[in-house]
Amino acid sequence: MKEVFEISLWTFTIQLLENLCVLFTLITLFSQYAQLRLEINLDRKEINWAGILMFALLSAFTMGIPIQSSPEGVIFDLRLAVVILGSLYLGLRDGAILAILTIIIRCVVGGSGWILWAIPALLYGPVAYYIILHSKKRYLGLVLASTIGTFIYLLTLAALSWHYDWFQSISPYTAWSNFKVLAVSKFLCNALAVLLLDRALFKIVAMQKQFTNLTFLANTDDMTGLANHRRFQELLTNTLQDAAQNPVSVLMMDVDYFKIYNDTFGHQAGDVALKKVALAIKKCVRDSDIVGRYGGEEFIVVLPKTKPSEAFEIAERIRTSVQETQFLGRQVTVSIGVTTCSEADKSKENIIEEADTALYWAKNLGRNCVH
Ligand code: GH3
Ligand code: MG
Ligand code: MG
Repeated sequence: MKEVFEISLWTFTIQLLENLCVLFTLITLFSQYAQLRLEINLDRKEINWAGILMFALLSAFTMGIPIQSSPEGVIFDLRLAVVILGSLYLGLRDGAILAILTIIIRCVVGGSGWILWAIPALLYGPVAYYIILHSKKRYLGLVLASTIGTFIYLLTLAALSWHYDWFQSISPYTAWSNFKVLAVSKFLCNALAVLLLDRALFKIVAMQKQFTNLTFLANTDDMTGLANHRRFQELLTNTLQDAAQNPVSVLMMDVDYFKIYNDTFGHQAGDVALKKVALAIKKCVRDSDIVGRYGGEEFIVVLPKTKPSEAFEIAERIRTSVQETQFLGRQVTVSIGVTTCSEADKSKENIIEEADTALYWAKNLGRNCVH
């Protein structure tokens, strides 16, 4: 027996590496280029189909490139590692969907008899998930989860062999000498795969999070949380592209006599007031509308698919809302200039200039009004 194990150890190692390389490549391809969201999000309501599909495909691939282990003729794959990691990255519900998909794939590949594989598959996902999330050291949790998962798997096989003659006749696991060698290689391979693949995924998820954070910072005015000047310009350009089909309205607004407010109550109170104005504007528009901080105490709103009369109505609503907001010391008001673009040939610069001119008129007409 020892001889058989040593001979196959080489092929076995090579195939394990081959299997891991393919999984690494697929993980990188799927999650980085397809921008799949894999981060653990326990509050997530909608099912993460993209993530489930990625792990299900990984699972299918690992069955397609199984590892040849001793004793000769016995092959196995790393699908256990994939289901464990899938549950960890997708959460329990989506992990269960992944386990069911993996069972279906196994049955399609190996015949309906493999439905029995459902027992370990459905068990070790949740078990692993729980262990890894609750262990102090992540790598220890991963090794423990993988070891327990493999154990459940082997127990199922052993139970099947004792109870079903047909299984005994087709299974190479039943001879104790075979079982020993297989158990060792399975424990080692699964643990190694779970550790290495988690490293790869962990890095990708961390990079994605960092990227999302940086994108948010690059696009947001950090005082008000609105789109900053750069982001707003970008969004306006995109919105204007279908101005010929749907009119786009723009509101330019400026806080009235804000210098006096600052001089009277201090700049910090001024900052609080600007945040309140931003909130008041946000409350009056649809989620699909774009609200940006143009600069200083100037705000801009882009209203896609909005006719002049509707834009005027929204502007009036914003003006009233700001007027009715409680500020420190005294009332704060805004003046608003409104313009609409319904031709494709108007440039972004033209629109902003028109809105600016309208704002100028609103200021000249006495402030706290819409023009
Ligand atoms: P008008 O009605 O003509 O707009 O008068 P105004 O005083 O608002 O106009 P002006 O342009 O003279 O002053 C704008 C003021 O807005 C000056 C500046 O101190 C203040 N401001 C601009 N950005 C900020 C900010 O981020 N925080 C605070 N607190 N104040 C700001
Ligand atoms: Mg101003
Ligand atoms: Mg002002």
